Amino acid sequence: MPLEVLERAQSELTDWRGSGMSVMEMSHRSPEFVSIAAEAERRLRALLEVPDDYAVLFLQGGATGQFSAVPLNLAAPGAPAAYLNTGSWSKKAIAEGRKYVDVQVLADEKQSNYATVPAEGSFEVPQDASYLHYTLNETIGGVEFPYVPDAGSVPVVTDASSTILSRPLDVSRFGVIYAGAQKNLGPAGLCVVVVRRDLLEQARPDVPAALDWKAMAEADSMLNTPPTLAWYLVGLVLEWVEEQGGVQEMARRNQAKADLLYGAIEASSFYSNPVQPAARSWMNVPFLVPDSSLEKPFVAAAAEAGLSGLAGHRSVGGMRASIYNAMPIEGVRALVDFMTDFEQQNG
Ligand code: PMP
Repeated sequence: MPLEVLERAQSELTDWRGSGMSVMEMSHRSPEFVSIAAEAERRLRALLEVPDDYAVLFLQGGATGQFSAVPLNLAAPGAPAAYLNTGSWSKKAIAEGRKYVDVQVLADEKQSNYATVPAEGSFEVPQDASYLHYTLNETIGGVEFPYVPDAGSVPVVTDASSTILSRPLDVSRFGVIYAGAQKNLGPAGLCVVVVRRDLLEQARPDVPAALDWKAMAEADSMLNTPPTLAWYLVGLVLEWVEEQGGVQEMARRNQAKADLLYGAIEASSFYSNPVQPAARSWMNVPFLVPDSSLEKPFVAAAAEAGLSGLAGHRSVGGMRASIYNAMPIEGVRALVDFMTDFEQQNG
């Protein structure tokens, strides 16, 4: 979270703008909260240039909830659904999809140990598929699609949890974009779903109400009590992104941060990053040291130097720097300096 946002939230915590109440204490039906919710939606639409024929939903259940919501809302009876498998989060989406629909995996990057995305045009989407699902950025593997797959008339659905707001996204290329909030949007507890309105008519009759996009769209995402505090905080983050210069400016900063870190890794014979250069994530940079016995000392010494959260995901080990929007370039510089020192002492 950007520090300015936390400070703003702190200053408003007990009394939101003279209302005499904390946002936590407001009814979600109160005019105050309804205005907070509408303002956040307006800002998100403006920042992402969401066309009018898309609904924007603020839901609970995380991106994991959407792994189920996607087939439950989109899969036509008897039709397959196409998926691309580029790593850990794709696999989870596929496993959840298999509970409800005939999943066809069109590309699986197993051969590269999930260090690649399928080449553009290397797979064909069956035109009877209900949708094509892919993970825009694999948060654990650090693999990000540099292109939007062409699926013909099949709606493209993407898990943009760790990409949203980091760079411009042409919403009109997608049927559905969903993203857990806890990277670039705000705190955990909220998942944003941007869905083309014509796709709101395809849900299975037994879709649970909390995952029913159409019902949620009709109820302004308030079919049940939304996570009001998280929604408010997302609104503050969106305001901050606006003040910084919008998504274009986030992209400029993020590219500079990523270039700095990947450049340092490339220039060193000590550190390595396994990901195909064209598919390297701007947000999550995994890296290895030559000997895995140096991983724990690296993470411990980094934490001592004030650089925390650098251990790789527990499923893959190694190290990983997540350099989301709120991370300033000074933080990346400090990491690169630390890495140089560590290499000198251990290389
Ligand atoms: N997809 C991606 C790309 C993620 O990074 C994550 C969480 N790190 C998830 C899905 C799961 O999100 P949640 O924990 O909000 O369900």
